[in-house]
Amino acid sequence: MGRINIGKSNNKVKTVKADLRKSTGLQTVLLFCMLAIVTLSFPTHAEELVDATADYDSNNVFARILRGDLPADIVFESEYALAFHDINPQAKVHVLIIPKGQYTNITRFNADASDEEKLGFLDAISQTATIMKVDESGFKLVSNTGQHAGQTVPHFHFHLLGGEPVQSQ
Ligand code: 5GP
Repeated sequence: MGRINIGKSNNKVKTVKADLRKSTGLQTVLLFCMLAIVTLSFPTHAEELVDATADYDSNNVFARILRGDLPADIVFESEYALAFHDINPQAKVHVLIIPKGQYTNITRFNADASDEEKLGFLDAISQTATIMKVDESGFKLVSNTGQHAGQTVPHFHFHLLGGEPVQSQ
């Protein structure tokens, strides 16, 4: 009987150890997942934010799209501007509209672009809204400028957001 009892208690110990190993394994997996989520949620591009006073970087991603070095899903193109779908859309309609000239942000564009470029850019915004069928339902235009706004691409652009309510974005 004693042996049987010892065997039973050994089995219990083994079961507890196995449970512990299982839960430790599960905890490790959970911890890993949580770390991954936290890492992905925090902006990893803190050092990549654009300085509003920086000189134009002709190797930025939009300059490469304009040169045809990178693909883009183009919505509208004119002599002065290009509009294409954002690679990481934040709304049903999320199109980026950029001037073809080399301007880091809206203040540089306003200071240095010609009247034709400015009018051509405004026209591109309007035409893009019509093409995307948001001209009647409404849309939002956002142009992040510099570090406090979280600008990541150093080529002046407007985000055109719509296709659904976008008040909170
Ligand atoms: P910002 O943060 O400068 O206001 O916006 C930059 C935008 O460019 C982001 O919404 C980002 O998703 C988009 N973007 C970054 N790289 C690419 C790309 O290679 N192609 C396209 N279509 N959009 C991009």
